Amino acid sequence: MADGLMMPEPTFRESVDLMFNRAVALMDLPPGLEEKIRVCNATYTVRFGVRLRGQIQTFTGYRSVHSEHMEPVKGGIRFATSVCQDEVEALAALMTYKCALVEAPFGGSKGGLCIDPRQWDEHEMELITRRFAYELIKRDLIHPSQNVPAPDMGTSEREMAWIADQYGRMNTTDINAKACVTGKPLNAGGIAGRVEATGRGVQYALREFFRHPEDKAAAGMEGDLDGKTVIVQGLGNVGYHAAKFISQEDGAKIVAVIERDGALCNPEGLDIEAVRDWIARHDGVSGYPDAAFCADGAEILEEECDILIPAALEGVINAGNAGMIKAKLIIEAANGPITASADEVLRRRGVVIIPDAYANAGGVTVSYFEWVKNLSHIRFGRMQRRQEEARHQLVVDELERLDRYLGDAWTLRPEFKDKYLKGADELELVRSGLDDTMRTAYQSMREVWHSRDDVQDLRTATFIVAIERVAASYRAKGL
Ligand code: GLU
Repeated sequence: MADGLMMPEPTFRESVDLMFNRAVALMDLPPGLEEKIRVCNATYTVRFGVRLRGQIQTFTGYRSVHSEHMEPVKGGIRFATSVCQDEVEALAALMTYKCALVEAPFGGSKGGLCIDPRQWDEHEMELITRRFAYELIKRDLIHPSQNVPAPDMGTSEREMAWIADQYGRMNTTDINAKACVTGKPLNAGGIAGRVEATGRGVQYALREFFRHPEDKAAAGMEGDLDGKTVIVQGLGNVGYHAAKFISQEDGAKIVAVIERDGALCNPEGLDIEAVRDWIARHDGVSGYPDAAFCADGAEILEEECDILIPAALEGVINAGNAGMIKAKLIIEAANGPITASADEVLRRRGVVIIPDAYANAGGVTVSYFEWVKNLSHIRFGRMQRRQEEARHQLVVDELERLDRYLGDAWTLRPEFKDKYLKGADELELVRSGLDDTMRTAYQSMREVWHSRDDVQDLRTATFIVAIERVAASYRAKGL
């Protein structure tokens, strides 16, 4: 039986507060500031009607602003039936800490619409999204310098394009209109690499973790990602990209994938693209030929593996199953997948957790690059790419001139020449910026984790780093 079963299960928002409290108890903040940072500044609730299928349908939406220590505030818009005030406020708080941790100059916000997007066709979704956006835009809750949403669960590039267009229609002379939302398609002001950014960030986070022998040892592991067994829960945008990148590029073995209708297991490793393709065609994993199917997906969370990647809903690892989880390392690709009581149990059992505020920050990091691109009105790399190539060509020409004197021993390999001569395009620059961000943020967390005796886990370290930065920015404002 799970040793956490007797503990009361906190709500998502209580979980975030409990984790925050654990960290501030170890900090020396001026009285009152702690409360100022913890509380959510404001949550706007809107109920609006849209005429659909011959009648008025009423929807409820939210935009919560957790902290305005920096503006604009930033965070996704979620379309799901779970959306409620408690959920958006917890998610908005996580955005504050996430942005502080990766040094994206934003406060924290989050929005949501209580809806099952699968119940409506594309045209209906456009009407609903535009109407929701209209309600938020007219209150400056979507605005390039005040509040900049992005995709989240149930939304994608498609919804962001509608929102950007809606803002443009309502602000026809705003030259920075496109910066009102991120995660847009490339042809509507988006940036290369944003779609896969959160998954890519999970990969970079894992690579950085495996660069530190002390950290691997804490999880009872050695080596790198090559050959590590991984269970992924949720093959949406984040889970799919993370699983694809670590299996195809780092040699990790995805031994199970958990989805809505059940789980697929294959100890030899699953072909993630084939599984994703199957889900798209069959609306679930059941029937997939190259794996064993288990109808009770939640059971598979408790299977043997090196790394567990919860990449879907909050609260999937809770007091009920935390005692049975066998993974040595859990990386929270989703927001809030581990409740505060499960966190307690896992920490006691020595499981290392790479927390959400860091692990899934790749999305907002590349959103930051997109926002900067929109405000500067120029694609990254446009000015320097050819100049860089020309300078590299000079070096290659010179080396080839020397070649003629030194003979065959000095010949440049064609692969080297191709790689060296190619100037960085936007995608490469985005990846480089994301990699640097993920490495730097991890190092700031691990420094606190290892240098303080009273900090035993990465989550507490993450909160300490983030809260310290938010506090510093309030102090700078004279608060
Ligand atoms: N929804 C994503 C998150 O939870 C991205 C937010 C953003 O890009 O602003 O981090």
